[in-house]
Amino acid sequence: MSKAIFITNPIFASDAWGNNHPLAISRQRSLLDFCSALGWTSSQNMAICDFASLNQLSQFHSEEYILAFQKASRDLKIDAAGRAEFSIGTLENPLFDKVFERASASVGGSILAAEIALGGKVAFHPAGGTHHGRKDKASGFCYFNDPVFAILTLLEAGLSRVLYVDIDAHHGDGVELAFKADKRVHMVSLHEENRWPNSGALKDNCAQICNLPLPKAINDSEYAILIDAICEKYVDFDAQAIVIVAGADCLKGDPLSTMALSNLGFVSAIEKLLKLAPVKIVLGGGGYNPWTVTRAWALIWGRLAGFEIPLALPPSARDVLSGLECDLIDEEDILPEWRDSIQDKGNAGEIRDEINILVGSLSKF
Ligand SMILES: [Zn+2]
Repeated sequence: MSKAIFITNPIFASDAWGNNHPLAISRQRSLLDFCSALGWTSSQNMAICDFASLNQLSQFHSEEYILAFQKASRDLKIDAAGRAEFSIGTLENPLFDKVFERASASVGGSILAAEIALGGKVAFHPAGGTHHGRKDKASGFCYFNDPVFAILTLLEAGLSRVLYVDIDAHHGDGVELAFKADKRVHMVSLHEENRWPNSGALKDNCAQICNLPLPKAINDSEYAILIDAICEKYVDFDAQAIVIVAGADCLKGDPLSTMALSNLGFVSAIEKLLKLAPVKIVLGGGGYNPWTVTRAWALIWGRLAGFEIPLALPPSARDVLSGLECDLIDEEDILPEWRDSIQDKGNAGEIRDEINILVGSLSKF
């Protein structure tokens, strides 16, 4: 029996996002193909999520937005007033075939993730993690906010201490806005400073909200110190459940951030954080380098499900990595290990003063 469940839906592997978008890289399809090539997917450890219903979506999103988005998705267009009000049909949040269904499936996946986690298994929903979505509009490639629904499902089940940790390179602003008035949810976000959406400053921290804006090019050693300090701080919170947004744009080589974690540092952080609560959910998030995203999320899945991590990849797994393409990354910047291994080498480095200041800030609120 698998101790972890991989949540998916066929719609996540379909073509989406058009041509000129950082997410037009078929992340879920390559992840599934790669895990399958490693023998890590089976009917025993995978679950297909439903589309969230309109009724479920309205537990957080406004009815006006849901209906406008549904219509725009069906028509593949929206008028200027609707575009301005709901931020859909833009370059950032484009309309494409079945975008509404795809976003609804992400929400359905997060609801299922919470149910699975409450049942005692670790839930992994890599197509989730749309942490910028707002109640009444899209934001930052996120149409709905599926992490909100994972948390709401946990709260509805009677939990009163939920820890949300967001390790995506961008501030988890949508989730913070959704729960900042709900004392049952404590939130931590580690994100690169001076990067969109430019929120999540240290000065905004309080008993319930812990933002850690990180200096450029953070390495594994610095990240491990911060994660250890977070784990120490939140032991006392005694969380009943933890929801992690594991955006892979914090990995070295991502075109949309300068963060420089290896996938070993990334997975180590997630494993330490998961020890903070008995009910465990890991969602996806950003990640715009198809090689680093595919390998890192596969590595998480392998570790969560208890598979042995291979040092040498079988040819079919190497073929998946060799077949990836990305307009945002120059050919000469593609590292050989991105195509023929699953684990990075590790990126240890010096600890800068800024990191010690951030650790010190953790005891101040
Ligand atoms: Zn991100």
